[in-house]
Amino acid sequence: MSDQSANIVVVGGGVVGLAIAQELSRLHDDVFLLEAQPRLGLGNSTRNSGVIHAGIYYRSGSLKAYHCVEGSRLLYEFCGMHGVHHARVGKLIVAQHESEIPELERLKRQGDENGAIGLEIIDGSRIPEIEPHIRGVAAIHSPNTGLVEPEEVVRTLARLAESNGASLLTDTPLVGARLAGERLIIQTPREEVEARVVINAAGLYADEVAQLFGNERYQIHPCRGEYAEVVPARSDLIRGLVYPVPSQDGHGLGVHFTRTLSGALLLGPNARYVDRKDNFEEGLADLESFHRAAVRMLPDLQLEDLRPSYTGIRAKLHPANGPAFADFIIESDHRTPSLIHLVGIESPGLTSCISLARQVAGMVEEI
Ligand SMILES: Cc1cc2nc3c(=O)[nH]c(=O)nc-3n(C[C@H](O)[C@H](O)[C@H](O)COP(=O)(O)OP(=O)(O)OC[C@H]3O[C@@H](n4cnc5c(N)ncnc54)[C@H](O)[C@@H]3O)c2cc1C
Repeated sequence: MSDQSANIVVVGGGVVGLAIAQELSRLHDDVFLLEAQPRLGLGNSTRNSGVIHAGIYYRSGSLKAYHCVEGSRLLYEFCGMHGVHHARVGKLIVAQHESEIPELERLKRQGDENGAIGLEIIDGSRIPEIEPHIRGVAAIHSPNTGLVEPEEVVRTLARLAESNGASLLTDTPLVGARLAGERLIIQTPREEVEARVVINAAGLYADEVAQLFGNERYQIHPCRGEYAEVVPARSDLIRGLVYPVPSQDGHGLGVHFTRTLSGALLLGPNARYVDRKDNFEEGLADLESFHRAAVRMLPDLQLEDLRPSYTGIRAKLHPANGPAFADFIIESDHRTPSLIHLVGIESPGLTSCISLARQVAGMVEEI
């Protein structure tokens, strides 16, 4: 950063920080992004299901509902424009029992109200037309749900931001910060810089970045999502995306099947709160628990078909015993509008990234 000053500093080089840097560098000079890791996108941005969600699950009127629907539209457009590998594969949310049908109907109404496109409830006899191996009594079919290659989103956003003139600094953690009146002073291991605007897009660590500025208002509770993979010889059991009806007090969407763009078949993620934000591996769930969660929906699945896969860690705003729903937080710091925090950007954060960036750009225009 030049002359110990910067116009705009984005903290965090995941899809959200990169989308913001890309959007702001179209409009402003002197945009810097700080990423603690040696490469961009090593956090949750590449440890997820890669699903472009349609906007079914989120409370109507919430930021999650708005940014998911708008973000999905913008992300499809972005992928088409920049040659990012994606596919509108469609998705089923499958009810196993009659008792789940009221919840299925509620989700359909909520999705319609949120603006999710083309939702339809189909009865059990039609499920095999879409997914020949799946059993259920009814399902929501969402034709606009799709898949994207998250690494390609990261690379493309980074390329565009750099070509707009943004400087993306890897291996550069924010280690200290303070407010000096209206001024924002930030520290990396190499320098101390004054910035006009700082955007905190540090994902799982957004609460800690806010704390560096003396803001103790946020706390992120890490909730691990582990995946199993179906062996390649059996990956054709599923064509697209198949989800259960989520339990209303659950902290994820329920263990589901994702046939990735590379043809792998994933099962997961589960939802397990962990003690540390870097605890990706200790005490992983056994494969039996994945099999139990999925076999009623996919009776042909054998335990021997499964092997362990990767994990991600959700940035939850509520603890394990708290309410299941929390909205995204996108707000200016209570002491100055020049410091903007994005906190609790869990799913559908990948889907929403470009829409989130537009909201932040609007906030920056007002400063
Ligand atoms: C298991 C799982 C499945 C998911 N599936 C989906 C899905 O299918 N579809 C969907 O839309 N969303 C999904 N999500 C959510 C999505 O992955 C996230 O919402 C999104 O990646 C958040 O991006 P981000 O840029 O905010 O965070 P991150 O990708 O975590 O990026 C934050 C970055 O900030 C950096 N950082 C932290 N502290 C500092 C510091 N002090 N200085 C500098 N840099 C710092 C980190 O190193 C990191 O690179 C899923 C999430 C999980 C965990």
